Amino acid sequence: MKVLVADDDPGSLLVARAAVERSGHDCLTATDGDEAWALYLERQPDVVVTDWMMPGLNGLALCRAIRALEGDRYTYIVLLTSQGSRDDVLAGLEAGADDYVTKPLDPFVMHARLLVALRVTTLHADLAHYRKVLSRQARTDPLTGLHNRLKLSEDLEQLHARSQRYTEEYCVAMCDVDNFKSYNDIYGHQAGDVALRSVADALAAAARSSDGLYRYGGEEFLLVLPNQSQPGAKAFMERALDTVRELKIAHSGDPTGHLTLSAGISAFTDGHRADADTLLGEADKALYAAKAAGRNRVELAL
Ligand code: GH3
Ligand code: MG
Ligand code: MG
Repeated sequence: MKVLVADDDPGSLLVARAAVERSGHDCLTATDGDEAWALYLERQPDVVVTDWMMPGLNGLALCRAIRALEGDRYTYIVLLTSQGSRDDVLAGLEAGADDYVTKPLDPFVMHARLLVALRVTTLHADLAHYRKVLSRQARTDPLTGLHNRLKLSEDLEQLHARSQRYTEEYCVAMCDVDNFKSYNDIYGHQAGDVALRSVADALAAAARSSDGLYRYGGEEFLLVLPNQSQPGAKAFMERALDTVRELKIAHSGDPTGHLTLSAGISAFTDGHRADADTLLGEADKALYAAKAAGRNRVELAL
């Protein structure tokens, strides 16, 4: 672990450093609270051992500053206090310290405290890791690996707010695989899954990195196209549908003989500042119009 020791008494600092290093950890030292805070920000230590009374930020203020700042990573804080200052100890623990040791420092006590610190910081690191993994999993569609509707609602809310603030345009395109029920009926559900993955990959390859691509439902995909006018979005979606046609996934139940997509597009523009849900509804309606007009095509919302 990386341990930061802050103490304005040079003798005490030397003893602490020796104890930390003998316990097998790296030691950073600071001789006042402000230096400790600067080092904390720069080096991100796992453990902070801090004196109570120091020039600059005192131990209490340092504890509070660390707790106010830290996000996913956890800093284990040990307060160094003089004998008989019980009120100080309670105030320190309330301010965010995890533990305290009394001066003069006993290297054995320091070693013992660092064993606990290692266990606690490892636990927090594990928690942060699993939180990240679960958060990613909660926003990913397991079949295609695309983002799912939860991620869509988060991304769309952000994009909508930004587009409103800066009067930028964006488009949403709802896509749906044509005659997919009959594809499953003819080739089986597993082949249907493989086809959905291929379609997802083709759409991902067609999209720009700034576009959002989501699995909206069973055989429905949604594209979010920031800074895109409706004509631009139409040209883009024509190309995307082409990319899927070029996969040449045989489908004897479709008039073209291959798997195709239909798409409907709606746009957030200066003249049409509808909310995101309305835009999704309009794209869905346009998709329905594309289906009614014979499928395998792109339609714009009215
Ligand atoms: P349309 O051209 O009008 O869109 O007709 P369609 O047959 O594609 O539409 P419909 O909504 O009737 O059928 C959708 C089919 O998609 C039915 C469902 O079994 C299939 N489907 C949905 N999700 C999955 C999936 O994850 N895997 C597979 N294999 N099939 C799926
Ligand atoms: Mg369909
Ligand atoms: Mg459908």
